[in-house]
Amino acid sequence: MNAKILIVEDEPAIQELLAFNVMQAGFQALCAGDAETTWQQIRDSVPHLILLDWMLPGTSGVVLAKQLRSDARTKDIPIIMLTARGEERDKILGLESGADDYITKPFSPRELMARIRAVLRRHVQAMPDKTVTASGLKLSPATHRVTANGLNIEVGPTEFRLLHFFMTHAERVHSRTQLLDQVWGTQVFVEERTVDVHIRRLRAALEPAGMDALIQTVRGSGYRFSATYDRGSG
Ligand code: CA
Repeated sequence: MNAKILIVEDEPAIQELLAFNVMQAGFQALCAGDAETTWQQIRDSVPHLILLDWMLPGTSGVVLAKQLRSDARTKDIPIIMLTARGEERDKILGLESGADDYITKPFSPRELMARIRAVLRRHVQAMPDKTVTASGLKLSPATHRVTANGLNIEVGPTEFRLLHFFMTHAERVHSRTQLLDQVWGTQVFVEERTVDVHIRRLRAALEPAGMDALIQTVRGSGYRFSATYDRGSG
C-alpha cells in the first residue's frame, strides 16, 4: 500500500524519526510543522491519514483536529493523535476533538505502524455501496453522506461506520466488545471506553435533527439503535 501519511510535528528530530518509520513501512511521508503548513500540504494533496502532534506552536493539535473534522475536504481523513500526555482525560479529550486513535510518546515504531495500518484498514474496508434508510435517517456509503429527514448530518469516519452498523443491525443490543469487533475490526489497541466517546460524538451529530435518542444505552449491556423510544434507558 502506498498511502500518503501527513506528519504534523514541530520538533524536527521527531518529525524526521516519524517520516523515516513511515517510509520504512512503505508509505509516503509528507511533513508539516504547524497548522498553516498542514493546510498548505492538504491543498496540494489530500493525505490518507494524518499523524497529529498535540503540542504545536500556535494552533494546538486538538484545535487543528476539530478544524480538520469540520472541513468538507478533510472530515473523512483519519487522524492519529500523538502526545506526551498519557492521562486518561487527555486521551478522551483527544478522541473527542475528532481523532480516531491516540498514541503516547515515547512510542515504539512497531506499535505506531500497527496502529497506522489498523486505522487505514478500517477506512478502506469495503462497505457495501447500498444506501441504508431507517427511522428517517438515510446513509449513503457511495457519497459518504448522512441525512435526517433531508437535513444534512456531519459525522466523522468512525461515526459513519458505527451508524452504518447500527442502521443495518437495528433493534439489537450490541456490547462494546461486539461493536469494537464489527466497527473497528479485530485489533488489540482500542479500549472499550473509546466506543463510548464515539457514541457521544454520534449522538451529538444526530441531536440537531432531534434523532440522538435513536442511539440508546442499554444499562450493563451496551448500545442499541431503535426507533422505539424508551425513556427508561440511556
Ligand atoms: Ca510538539
